[in-house]
Amino acid sequence: MIDTHCHLDVPRFDEDRSAVLERAWAAGVEAVIVPAIGPDAWEPLLGWPRRDKRVQVGLGIHPQLVPSLPEADDAKHLERLDALLARDEAIAVGECGLDAASGQIERQVRILKAHFALARKHGKPLLMHVLRAHPQFRDVIADEPMPEAGLLMHSYSGSADLTPRYVKYGCHFSFAGPVTFVDARRPLDALRSVPLDRLMVETDAPDQAPHPHRGSRSEPAYVPLIVEAMERVRGEPVRDAVTTNARRFFRLE
Ligand SMILES: [Zn+2]
Repeated sequence: MIDTHCHLDVPRFDEDRSAVLERAWAAGVEAVIVPAIGPDAWEPLLGWPRRDKRVQVGLGIHPQLVPSLPEADDAKHLERLDALLARDEAIAVGECGLDAASGQIERQVRILKAHFALARKHGKPLLMHVLRAHPQFRDVIADEPMPEAGLLMHSYSGSADLTPRYVKYGCHFSFAGPVTFVDARRPLDALRSVPLDRLMVETDAPDQAPHPHRGSRSEPAYVPLIVEAMERVRGEPVRDAVTTNARRFFRLE
């Protein structure tokens, strides 16, 4: 199995990062994808796949971080992102996206469109965070040509009704801990609405820990718990499909 979205570089893993990875490999996780949150993370993250190919990284600017970065630096950051992607060490562009609760949504849209352009230019897939901003995101994908390498809606929060529209654009979808919660409704309907060949799994660690770890720090070793819940909800095996889909999408060996 492959954890397609986890933030193992954040300080909450400083104490035991290598033990966390060991537990993941022991649980049957073969690779993890770590998307950057912002410019400070880019250079340190690039060192990781050089040390261990099972850890692959994406480079981008998380929409929740946008309001805390000086707008005057946007062009400079995007130029540096372009240069780092050209090294071909990161396998994806992201994390990027839109988050309505974080503010400055028009600036988020401008930065997101720049990420689309970089994904097309460098032939890499986009790792997308869309929260309470699906109308604005639909406007972006109506304008912006899809990168050939595709787009992954991480921790998909759209409604089941919205899924076919994203499927038509070629999007993939990953699901995290909330599909294991006993009181979950909306994420389960969304999970059932995704075609099996577009489905992936993630932990979004350290956030969104699955049942029975809800509320504590999540980690990639919990991927099997999420896969089991996905299989219960859909009433079919998904383990091989989510793994094959992730290998193909990220072009992993
Ligand atoms: Zn994330």
